[in-house]
Amino acid sequence: MSPRRSTPKPARRQTSRARRLGLSTKSKSAAPKPDDMPDYLRRLGVVPRKALGQHFLVDELILSAIADAAALTSDDVVLEIGAGPGGLTEELAKRGATVVAVEIDEELAGSTRSRLSEYDKLQILAADVLDFEPIELLNEAGVQPPYVAVGNLPYYITQPIVRRLLESDPAPTRIVVLVQREVAHRMVGGPRRESLLSLSVKVYGAPRLLFDVPSTAFWPPPKVQSAVVEITRLDRPAIDLQPEELAVFFHLLRAGFAQPRKQIHNVFPEELGLEPPQVRHALEVAGIDPVARAQHLDLADWERLYRTFNELYPHGLEMNAVPASADFSEGEDLEEWDDDAPDVHDDDE
Ligand code: SAM
Repeated sequence: MSPRRSTPKPARRQTSRARRLGLSTKSKSAAPKPDDMPDYLRRLGVVPRKALGQHFLVDELILSAIADAAALTSDDVVLEIGAGPGGLTEELAKRGATVVAVEIDEELAGSTRSRLSEYDKLQILAADVLDFEPIELLNEAGVQPPYVAVGNLPYYITQPIVRRLLESDPAPTRIVVLVQREVAHRMVGGPRRESLLSLSVKVYGAPRLLFDVPSTAFWPPPKVQSAVVEITRLDRPAIDLQPEELAVFFHLLRAGFAQPRKQIHNVFPEELGLEPPQVRHALEVAGIDPVARAQHLDLADWERLYRTFNELYPHGLEMNAVPASADFSEGEDLEEWDDDAPDVHDDDE
């Protein structure tokens, strides 16, 4: 999908297919239960678009559990990403919060808007969420932050969306998202199993794995399993650095994970253009085990390492520094999830 920049607009019309089928989208009695969603969608003539990650949640208990996880009160504002046919949207709206739901598929946005029209604190915008800052979407709907972000995210753009949310200003106070299970684990990390993604997330927020969701909860069921993750935004970044320094810090992280199976003392000479004795010295000063792999270091280790390199060999960081921010790329090697992986794949031998 090529990026388009236009004012997010409510799709005003009821879909012609819905009209032809004579579906009432106003009265509550016409609103299908999520369990009936496949039927409802079939009646609307909706064919899920794989390219847009359209796997719709049809399990009422799971829908309710996700909305509960968002812990909403009627004073809250929710930005929902990817409203689809509105199963989750309705659960959020039922809790009395103000809901701004964004959906790229105009036709689906239109039919869901019609179906849920009884909820007067709900607005559905037809827009590509990545074309706008969250604050622009809230402004378009005429609501003010603070806000919570919730979504059963389209898998193909999970990480850009999470990145956009975490780096936005103002950022959501809390993010509750359903994502591919591997990505969920990667986001949360943990002792000796950090990833580029988990460390990037932890600069801005505290991630927590909430619960798994089986593929049978979706229609059509995806091939992968899913899980719900909550990220609570920190008041300020966990690393106390200026934005330009933070960019260099993320560069160091990327360099460290460039060869994740290697011991860290073997990674930096090549990645930072430093001599091996310089790297060993910096690791010693920073108190980092030279035979550790990147995944074994936590955020505090990386901060110490950054500060040490910056003090002792700033050229190692500067020569490679590119203006970049957190890395939420999809490119990491999933094998790194295996705790045993470093021992099994020892590239240093
Ligand atoms: N929330 C619904 C549910 O739980 O059943 C739908 C979830 S489905 C996994 C993801 C939704 O995100 C789809 O409806 C898809 O059309 C929408 N979507 C995909 N890319 C998008 C984008 N760039 N901006 C906004 N919505 C998008």
